[in-house]
Amino acid sequence: MTATTKVIRKPQRTMADQSYVIELVKGLGVTLKHFFKGTRQMVTGTTPDLEKHPYADGIATVQYPEEKRPYAQRWRGVHRLTHRDDGSPRCVACLCCSTACPAQCIYIKPAEYAEGDKRRGYERYPEEFVIDELRCIFCGFCVEACPCDAIRMDTGYHMTALDDRASFIYDKAQLMSHVGQDGTQKSANPRHEPGDPTHPGVTRLHGGH
Ligand code: SF4
Ligand code: SF4
Repeated sequence: MTATTKVIRKPQRTMADQSYVIELVKGLGVTLKHFFKGTRQMVTGTTPDLEKHPYADGIATVQYPEEKRPYAQRWRGVHRLTHRDDGSPRCVACLCCSTACPAQCIYIKPAEYAEGDKRRGYERYPEEFVIDELRCIFCGFCVEACPCDAIRMDTGYHMTALDDRASFIYDKAQLMSHVGQDGTQKSANPRHEPGDPTHPGVTRLHGGH
């Protein structure tokens, strides 16, 4: 068996290449071109419309927080708990979201509705609902897992820089206070309340099958 040898020739570089002077001047030329272009746009107020052309060839620096780029509809921001018509949470404390959460950052304490409430026996409600937004990896699995469209990440808020960990732990009241990008605390998906003729459920109390 004969060994084959592959000869890799050293690239031939001229003195000019090796000095890098020409490449350095070219690079500075690109920098100066963008510097003057940006300055002219700033002086004449002709900055590109970032909403229409987010990656337009011009000044792409956004003067945050005075200027904000609009978030996409499907962008995953801080969570919210959606409301029913009566203002109570849509959540039925089924624990699907906390089970699906890979970061294990959702805590729910389920409770039964009070005696006489038409929802008692059909479903529960979250007495406590806590999300540790610092542990959250914003994967959206909780939203996908929810059978009631009760948890959403369409707030358009991203986490603010805070100086203590406790401020990142959102409780039920805080999660219910958030609004979606449409400005409401509800969900457009229909909800069939227990007692409605459209409600498909049966009660555990009355032994339906
Ligand atoms: S987005 Fe992902 S990590 Fe965050 S709470 Fe939901 S399931 Fe958990
Ligand atoms: S938010 Fe949805 S998935 Fe989570 S406990 Fe409530 S109803 Fe179940």
